[in-house]
Amino acid sequence: MSKTIIITGGGRGIGRACAVLAAKRGWSVAFNYRSNKPAADALVAEIEALGGKAIGIQGDVSNEAETQALFAVARAAFGAIDGVIINAGIVAPGAQVADMSFERLQTMININVLGALLTAREAARALSTKRNGKGGAIVVMSSAAARLGSPGEYVDYAATKGAMDTMTIGLAKELGPEGVRVNAIRPGLIDTEIHASGGQPDRAFALGPTVPLGRPGQAEEVAAAAIWLLSDDASYVTGAVLDVTGGR
Ligand code: NAP
Repeated sequence: MSKTIIITGGGRGIGRACAVLAAKRGWSVAFNYRSNKPAADALVAEIEALGGKAIGIQGDVSNEAETQALFAVARAAFGAIDGVIINAGIVAPGAQVADMSFERLQTMININVLGALLTAREAARALSTKRNGKGGAIVVMSSAAARLGSPGEYVDYAATKGAMDTMTIGLAKELGPEGVRVNAIRPGLIDTEIHASGGQPDRAFALGPTVPLGRPGQAEEVAAAAIWLLSDDASYVTGAVLDVTGGR
């Protein structure tokens, strides 16, 4: 069945892979991105070349008006929303907590936690059958860091992902009676540019051999799980936190 979905942080990496796979299913995709317009434009062009529909808008998930604008643009372009992937997230260069600046901690929490909660709020407003939505599904992009803790690297990031798991459990219970399923994915070491933004471009491949499956994951392997969770095939799955980690 055709759907309209929203993806935060859709321009690159895992969000991009989710957008392409959704488009291949015939779903319409609205996504936002922080600043990389060429990447976003390339994604829209790729989806349109597949015969799909996509719209990408610049917006910071930690900005209330900009996140609300994403939902308004999506609705105006494609009609009622069926699903939301709360995906946008950042890491910062590896450091011990004792050495982290106030600004770093504030930015981490603003984007990864406040941004996710704002997106979840808009998703609940758009999807809940109690609020004139038609029901649907939400997928939250957590991380294996939520259970590993990421000592010496980024405990701040790991803590924000712990918040994602808790948000998923609570929202699944809150929104289940309102026709909305809520699940999280914990990706492991996935080959995207997020590692470069944390100062370790080769991190996924350097640590890949330590993973039980012996390699890093690809964004498309995370997207497959996310699109399944949004699909009707996962109709009795809610409140789940799914590791996509190669066993890490
Ligand atoms: P990525 O390659 O760095 O891509 C991040 C995307 O999010 C980009 O499109 C970026 O926009 C966008 N973005 C960043 N900050 C934003 C903001 N404030 N508002 C809106 N969009 C924003 O990251 P990724 O590896 O795909 O990660 C996606 C999610 O998976 C994150 O939540 C991350 O924590 C999680 N995850 C990733 C891994 C991994 O190994 N890759 C592992 C576990 C969990 P621009 O393109 O404009 O910069």
